[in-house]
Amino acid sequence: MAVLEIREMGDPVLRERAAEVSAEELASAETQRLIEDMIETMRAANGAGLAAPQVGVAKRIAVIEVREGNPRYPYKPLIPLTVIVNPELTPLDDATFATNEGCLSMPNVRGDLERFENVGVRYLDRDGTPHESTRRGLTAGTFQHEVDHLDGILFVDRMADMSSLSTWAEFERHGKDEFVARVEALVERVGS
Ligand code: ZN
Repeated sequence: MAVLEIREMGDPVLRERAAEVSAEELASAETQRLIEDMIETMRAANGAGLAAPQVGVAKRIAVIEVREGNPRYPYKPLIPLTVIVNPELTPLDDATFATNEGCLSMPNVRGDLERFENVGVRYLDRDGTPHESTRRGLTAGTFQHEVDHLDGILFVDRMADMSSLSTWAEFERHGKDEFVARVEALVERVGS
């Protein structure tokens, strides 16, 4: 396994629509190794998720995981390691929530945006087995963030008001307490 270089905003690969992965391609040693490397890269960077375009591969693959004590996102509900291939995401209703995100491809930048609160997610796992599940709240937001990467969309594209754009240090100083209180209420209400 290897920690891969994370591509940053300005790299055209982050703005492409990534390609579907065929069953044969998914089963290949090359793709399986890419998935292993993406997991290692996500963990090394303390990310909550990582999409293949973020390591320079325009394929519809992402990995998601929130472990206990994640220093970037201590307020996120835990998510067991989930590999999603060719995901399809459908909002289940019109409900949205206000959140604040960062991105490994946009170092030291955070901002406020709205995400759908309840989404249905269909995807293949790394063995090609289909899955279907409902995700809510912050976890739904994490899935939306990663699937957006596969469509060349960065979270800043979803921001209605750029005035909340901040560095991580200024977010800690001015926005975090209010935000964490709000997301704790959200987690209480909808779970994940
Ligand atoms: Zn991201």
